[in-house]
Amino acid sequence: MLLNPKSRLAPLFERLRIHYAHEHHWWPLHTHDRGYEVMLGMVLVQQTQWGTVEAAVLRILDHGYTSFTTLADADPELLAQLCKPCAFYTRKSNALIRIAQVVASQPAGFSSLVVGERGVLRESLLALPQIGRESADTVLMYGGEHPLFIVDAYARRVLARTGIYADAIDCARAPYDAIQRIVEADVGELNISTARELHAMMVEASIHHCTANNPRCARSGAVRRFVDPRKCKDHCPPCTGCPAADMCVYHSSVTKLK
Ligand code: SF4
Repeated sequence: MLLNPKSRLAPLFERLRIHYAHEHHWWPLHTHDRGYEVMLGMVLVQQTQWGTVEAAVLRILDHGYTSFTTLADADPELLAQLCKPCAFYTRKSNALIRIAQVVASQPAGFSSLVVGERGVLRESLLALPQIGRESADTVLMYGGEHPLFIVDAYARRVLARTGIYADAIDCARAPYDAIQRIVEADVGELNISTARELHAMMVEASIHHCTANNPRCARSGAVRRFVDPRKCKDHCPPCTGCPAADMCVYHSSVTKLK
C-alpha cells in the first residue's frame, strides 16, 4: 500500500500508516453486503457522529431490513424511528427507501450504481436523495472499486493544517472538486487498496490527533468509543503525539508562538 513516493502526500501517508496501522473494521462490518452497508452509512452519517450511525445501522438490520430489496418495502414510520436520533432522521429514512427502490428496480441492482465510468456514475449518484459529492465518492470507492481521493472534513483539516498543498490551494475552503483534482494529480494512479487506506488514514488522524478543536499535536491521541468494540482497538494506546507533527505547518507555527 504505497503511494507514489514522489508525491507530496507520500511522507504524510507513511507516517500515518506506521502510527495507526491498518484498520480492519471498515465496511462491511455486520453483513456480507458491502454496498448496502456503505449506502446506509453514507446517508445516515451526514451531521451525525459515527457511533450514532452504527447503532442505527444495527437497529435497521435487526428489524430485518438487511438488503436493498427489503428496505425498498420498509414501513416509513418504523424506519424513521430506527434511524433516530441521527440528524434529519425522517428525511434520511425516506431517502434510504427511495434509494433502495431505485437499486431494486435495476436488473443489475447495486452494481448499476458503481460499475462503469466514474464521472457518469457520480452524476447518477448525485441525482439520488441525500447524496452529495463526498457520499457519492465514498459509495464509488467502498461500494465499488474506484480509487479516488475523498475530500471530507477530515481530509480538509489534515491537509490544511499540515500545509502540504498550501502553495496550490486552500484545502480548508476550496471547492471539493478542485482539491480532489490537485491531490489526485499529485499522487497519480492509485490502486483501490491504497486509495481506501489513504482515506482511512485521514479519518484516523482526525479522530485521534487532528481534532477540530485543540488538536493533540504533542499529546496522546483521543481514545474513541464505538458501538463495535473492535473499531480503533489497536491504535488508541498512549503515544507521545501526532505522527505528522514534524512536518506540520500549523504545529510549527503554534510551537513558535509559545
Ligand atoms: S501536528 Fe497537530 S495540527 Fe498537525 S496534523 Fe498533527 S494534530 Fe493536526
